[in-house]
Amino acid sequence: LFANLPLLPADPILDLGRVFAIDNRPHKINLGIGVYLDEQGVTPIMAAVAEAEARVETAEDTKAYLPPRSVPGFADNIARLALGQDSDLPGSGRLGVIQTPGGCGALGVSGGLMRRSGIKTVVMGTPTWSNHRPVYTAAGLAVRMIPYLDRATGGVDFAGYRAAVEQLGPDDVLLLHGACHNPTGVDLSPEQIDIIADIAAARGFLPMIDTAYHGLAHGLDADAYILRSFAQRVPELLISYSCSKNFGLYRERTGALIAIGKSPDRAAVLESHMLDLAREFYSMAPAHGALIVADILGSPELEANWRSELATMQRSIQARRNLLADALEKTEVGDSLSYVRDQNGMFSLLPLSPEQTQRMRDTHAVHMAASGRINVCGIRADNVDYLAGALASTMIE
Ligand code: PMP
Repeated sequence: LFANLPLLPADPILDLGRVFAIDNRPHKINLGIGVYLDEQGVTPIMAAVAEAEARVETAEDTKAYLPPRSVPGFADNIARLALGQDSDLPGSGRLGVIQTPGGCGALGVSGGLMRRSGIKTVVMGTPTWSNHRPVYTAAGLAVRMIPYLDRATGGVDFAGYRAAVEQLGPDDVLLLHGACHNPTGVDLSPEQIDIIADIAAARGFLPMIDTAYHGLAHGLDADAYILRSFAQRVPELLISYSCSKNFGLYRERTGALIAIGKSPDRAAVLESHMLDLAREFYSMAPAHGALIVADILGSPELEANWRSELATMQRSIQARRNLLADALEKTEVGDSLSYVRDQNGMFSLLPLSPEQTQRMRDTHAVHMAASGRINVCGIRADNVDYLAGALASTMIE
């Protein structure tokens, strides 16, 4: 019966970890992984998470189902984190929110919601995270790419992006990244965000903001600018929210889908469909990570500790960016890649061909995605000069 199914290759990004593990050169460097690493190369369990987890485990006396919308205190606190303490949206009734299995679960449910609403096309800036196209194609939607990254400057091709966005209409969704664009690290400025949000309001397309690194660019409030600007300007908005990176909860599959409706009635309709789609896919999200997040955000003291740990992670990422830019400036590459200093979050896209990334691995033991995407968290004070030398010799050859 299954004879006609071909064997599929392993996911190239997820497979990078396996290839790195079997490389026995002691000086190997892992820039391929998609998780935060501290300066010791460890993806830590945050102290606030460990404390909340202990409390959750002590308090838990059953594994019976919890309400499918959200474990108590999770969905509402995520909406507060995303939209801000002062937002009047939560009180207005215009929010539909459900807990999801990570950001990916939220993206999947959003695709179903779009298809049920009659949306035809999801429009994405080039390049985008490799899972965006499959998720929306699986939902039966067409995907269309528009300009975004300006490879020459390592910034946004805003003229090209804006011109394409001005053509969109009510059958379209514009997929935007929250702060820390994956794979480029290139984010819209606040002024550019306002312009795109005004165009969305005028043209009537639906913005969908995929938020996976909240707090890791410039802090929780600064990074939420895109969410809050759109929420103020457009009548309807979708936000996927991942707790994988900013709470370090990756494997616990913790996230949310937030829908802003035109009216309380429309928000209730949206939430009813989100719950129905979740029931179709996986019934309900896992509880463990969400209980931890709810405990942290429900306790002012733990929340303050978590915010301070997150700020430390954000500063550490910025420090690693500076290390790389400083080291490259001392090589033949000069300041041509200095834009890595100003990009946001863990990822940058280096101008390397797949052959060059292969050479980085084979000759220099530096592992990265074939696209040239690097996770700057693999950079440390004691490997950065070696890395910069390897990059220079590969790029200049
Ligand atoms: N969106 C983007 C852009 C991401 O980079 C990620 C994580 N790699 C996600 C969504 C979803 O992550 P998760 O499902 O693990 O929460």
